Amino acid sequence: MTSARRIAVYPGSFDPVHEGHLDIMRRCKPLFDEVVVAVLENEEKAALFSVEERVEMISEILGDDPIFTARSFSGLLVDYVESLGARAIIRGLRAVSDFEYEFQMALMNRRLDPNIETVFLTPREEYSFVSSRLVKEVFRLGGDLTGLVPQPVLDRLQERLRPNGAKV
Ligand code: ADP
Repeated sequence: MTSARRIAVYPGSFDPVHEGHLDIMRRCKPLFDEVVVAVLENEEKAALFSVEERVEMISEILGDDPIFTARSFSGLLVDYVESLGARAIIRGLRAVSDFEYEFQMALMNRRLDPNIETVFLTPREEYSFVSSRLVKEVFRLGGDLTGLVPQPVLDRLQERLRPNGAKV
């Protein structure tokens, strides 16, 4: 008897993806056969990068590791997870401050679809303070993000926020 493939969905804004996110993705590798990194199409949130650009950056960084694919989605997360035949939602927990919101979301998603489990993973401590919002803010102000953001993202930030090559 062949066992079912273990598919997980890691949803988020990823505007842009950073080392904290990538640390969580790496931790998924031994746990799942397939991980779909799902960029939420959220019209309410003003984003720096388009959903297509975010998917492109993630795909570029994950390279051709066959367990990962980057895609976009809209609508109810549990419906999307179900449509992929997945059973797990991955979320990263950076600190206690993430917990309340994540806990509410996990319980709501369980209420919407009891067959889907939310799996929480924690990053290495050195990434626990990193967020996409801070990455953008620090870059705008000329701070050094080496080691916190992969090179393809640094290049895109440079094009978008310092188009004249200004070092600030
Ligand atoms: P943010 O914009 O705050 O980086 P996202 O919506 O892109 O957040 O995050 C997607 C998921 O990744 C969420 O579960 C979030 O908690 C998690 N995450 C974000 N940053 C980190 C980090 N530094 N370490 C671990 N998980 C993280």
